[in-house]
Amino acid sequence: MAKQVNILLIYTGGTIGMVKNYKTNALHAFDFNNLQSKIPELNQLDCKISTISFDQPIDSSNMNPEYWVKITNIIEDNYNLVNGFVILTGSDTMSYTSSAISFMLENLNKPVIFTGSQLPIGDLRTDAKENLITAIQIATATKNGKPRISEVCLYFEYKLYRANRTTKINAEHFEAFASPNFPHIAESGVHLKFKEHLLYHPKKNKKLTIRKNLNNNIVVLKLFPGISLITIETILNTKGLKGVILETYGSGNASTNSNFISLLKKTINKGIQIIDVTQCIGGSVILGQYETSTILQKIGIISGKDITTESAIAKLMYLLGEKIAPKDFKTIFETSIRGEITD
Ligand code: ASP
Repeated sequence: MAKQVNILLIYTGGTIGMVKNYKTNALHAFDFNNLQSKIPELNQLDCKISTISFDQPIDSSNMNPEYWVKITNIIEDNYNLVNGFVILTGSDTMSYTSSAISFMLENLNKPVIFTGSQLPIGDLRTDAKENLITAIQIATATKNGKPRISEVCLYFEYKLYRANRTTKINAEHFEAFASPNFPHIAESGVHLKFKEHLLYHPKKNKKLTIRKNLNNNIVVLKLFPGISLITIETILNTKGLKGVILETYGSGNASTNSNFISLLKKTINKGIQIIDVTQCIGGSVILGQYETSTILQKIGIISGKDITTESAIAKLMYLLGEKIAPKDFKTIFETSIRGEITD
């Protein structure tokens, strides 16, 4: 007889875990314990679901690196006890959180599937049930005795994405996420179809290592025509600053104003890492493609290539926390370590 599949559901908060009291119209917390008795369809999956909920569920706007460590601690404590994890968070910062968790879990060989919903689980037209049931089904899926998924993913509205490629694109559509630079890796229709060639396969026999030292002394600096040098200077002189995500135009272009460039140069010379990430929803930074990025390349800016801002933030916090030697930092940042950029 096949061994029973065990799934751990981690509820951190967010709309998915809310139920409406139709008399008062107020939302209150859904109890995820004994989930199978509340959503009997789950019994068809032939798996055992245990649940750990945050004592105080949070709106995902309150998410932060301390909570990310809390999530990885739960994963670490249960890693050898279960076959996969489903993590429920609010959708607002789900791309940040799931990207961060993807960097924090090195040599992962089990599924970690994030999901949430736009409507509470008790609502008439809710997307919560489908997202939850299919996320659990994906976490239980195996092929030749091995998990189908062995990476951190995000499931929403019939699509499974590599988490660190996603971004939230809509505040009200059920299709709230996109993965502009990497195709979705599975799709739920009449059949659950995995795109085998896109799935991440871990290096065999490597032990899971959890990276918990995140350095959040970073900033996202979004350029816009008319941004003042004083503003830029003030931001770059922030005490303790270690890294900057510079959101540039198009394929990584920025003003060639000499005062601006010399501010960036001074910052880099102080040992602060500056990553060039495009403001565009899709496409890649290509330093040197235009004159307006050649100078950035010359002064030693790091190319974020086609990384999302969410993922760049997570990767920067992670790499700064790992105390990478300054001479290696650029090469490591520009190399894919969890499938977050196209090499
Ligand atoms: N504000 C909610 C949150 O992100 C929205 C949601 O759950 O999707 O926590």
